[in-house]
Amino acid sequence: MSALDAALVVERAAAVRARLEAAGGDAAAITLVAVTKGFGPEVAVAAAAAGLDDLGENYAQEVLPKVAAVAEAGQAPRWHFLGNLQRNKVRHLAPHIALWQSVDRDALGAEIAKRAPGAAVLVQVNLSGEEHKGGCARDDAAPLVEALVARGLDVRGLMGVGPAGDPEAARPGFRWLRAEVERLGLTVCSMGMSADLEVAVQEGTTMVRVGTGLFGPRR
Ligand SMILES: *Cc1c(COP(=O)(O)O)cnc(C)c1O
Repeated sequence: MSALDAALVVERAAAVRARLEAAGGDAAAITLVAVTKGFGPEVAVAAAAAGLDDLGENYAQEVLPKVAAVAEAGQAPRWHFLGNLQRNKVRHLAPHIALWQSVDRDALGAEIAKRAPGAAVLVQVNLSGEEHKGGCARDDAAPLVEALVARGLDVRGLMGVGPAGDPEAARPGFRWLRAEVERLGLTVCSMGMSADLEVAVQEGTTMVRVGTGLFGPRR
């Protein structure tokens, strides 16, 4: 995909928004985070040129080249960090990340608070119970939110990833996540990816994170 493909991204973004609406959502009220992980900087440039203002990355080493390429192209999107993150990577990312979505332990929050005081964060909760997936246990979400607030971080909400396979399998976890966001008095409920967007909308998502649906399969 090259920079010339911004038109294609515009088309696919419209299709994603149509899916949000068809599922009963208000596409204008749901933040669409375009996930360019695994693609080169030219795809991030195309996404920004297509008017997608929120870009998501999973891998620390991909962030800086993409930030540079997109800035070079004259665009200034908000960058979201979504992936498993080692503390020693935080310092390099800190100047660029608008929302840290994958905070799942206090030690990581401490490092973010040190390098980017007052930064906006989400607590990632492991909804599927699969051990290798990121996120804290459900029971740990509330105490972690409290700990991060005590560190001066701007805790906006919670993030969760549904299990692979049947989108319906994501529903109970999404329902729990939305209820927990409300119980904790937070506002952002980041849930729903290409395969389970509709279920996420039905369960009250405020932010979906879409890769494949915008850019096609990753290598
Ligand atoms: C890869 C990824 C996405 C996007 O997934 P798609 O299925 O390509 O839409 C969203 N959120 C997280 C945390 C991811 O790792």
